[in-house]
Amino acid sequence: MKIYISGEYFEKENAKVSVFDHGFLYGDGIFEGMRSYDGNVFRLRDHLDRLWESARSIQLTIPITVEAMEKAVNETLKINEISDGYIRLIVTRGRGTLGLDAHLCQHPQVIIIADHLALYPKECYEKGLEIVTASTIRTNPAMLGPQIKSMNYLNNILAKIEGHQAGCAEVLMLNSKGEVAECSGDNIFIFKRNRLHTPSPDAGILEGTTRRVVLELAAELGMNIKEAPMTRHDIYTADECFLTGSAAELIPVVKLDGRTIGNGLPGTVTKKLLERFRAETKKR
Ligand code: PMP
Repeated sequence: MKIYISGEYFEKENAKVSVFDHGFLYGDGIFEGMRSYDGNVFRLRDHLDRLWESARSIQLTIPITVEAMEKAVNETLKINEISDGYIRLIVTRGRGTLGLDAHLCQHPQVIIIADHLALYPKECYEKGLEIVTASTIRTNPAMLGPQIKSMNYLNNILAKIEGHQAGCAEVLMLNSKGEVAECSGDNIFIFKRNRLHTPSPDAGILEGTTRRVVLELAAELGMNIKEAPMTRHDIYTADECFLTGSAAELIPVVKLDGRTIGNGLPGTVTKKLLERFRAETKKR
């Protein structure tokens, strides 16, 4: 495996960053997780737009142009001969001192890793996931905007540990108002009374690229869509529930907190949207 670090390729064993990199010391950096299908990165521009937005928000200057980044991502995929894979793109603040001062980090690092994919097992798509609500609250946007895809994922990791302890592969996170925000690494949707409902960005979520595609597909299908605050009541009483993410695509959820959602099986709307989504990934 060859890993891109700031313009050069390194074998996996030699792909190293400094222990003085503020990405390592403080989680000071940003990232993207993307999928490739048949050698093409799905919605690459959407991911790069979000990366540049995250950078702007944390006052980090990405040292290369969008075009050069696009080229580097595609090249990394090609060099590693990955056709259907997962690409992790990271920009760290770079090497500094032990102090917090970001201005002493002169050279932000760009890292691109292309790997094979670890999806949820096929069985999860057939039977649906069971998830629980974490007691860990999603970061309050007044503290650190969840729309920044930062290297500071401790909030989500603590929630995911809770999920693991409950025997669940994903976990629901509420915001500080007690409303549904998202899962530790996926956005959430429900289908209820003929309407597709997902929390709006002001619930304090990462605005997923997959979430956006699903909203576009649902609009094309003429579905009634609601982006508005949601509580767990809405999920408990929904007909269907599913999660979206670049790695997961769309995955059905059949239980929350031990309560069965709808008839306890992946729903027909979820299946239809997944089918449309997969067709979308094949478009050139
Ligand atoms: N929410 C969080 C917290 C995430 O980390 C992710 C990505 N893993 C998502 C939602 C889904 O985003 P995307 O569809 O862009 O992968």
